[in-house]
Amino acid sequence: MTGDVHKPRSPVRVLFCPKCEDYRPVRHETRQQTYTVRDREITIPVGVDVCVICGEEIGSDEQDKRIIEQLHDHE
Ligand SMILES: [Zn+2]
Repeated sequence: MTGDVHKPRSPVRVLFCPKCEDYRPVRHETRQQTYTVRDREITIPVGVDVCVICGEEIGSDEQDKRIIEQLHDHE
């Protein structure tokens, strides 16, 4: 099976944290992030997964794609 797996409400998700160098439970947070696109600053809410142990944001390709799509919506 390939593609996105959407689990509606999984209580604990575990992702590899590059800072801890181990698999850690993560919590989902929405943070305001500012990006510069063609000399304009655009702030959008970005959903991120954060390691509950060290607080590191754990990105993903899927997340990057969503951010790019959101930035395009502002054009
Ligand atoms: Zn961590």
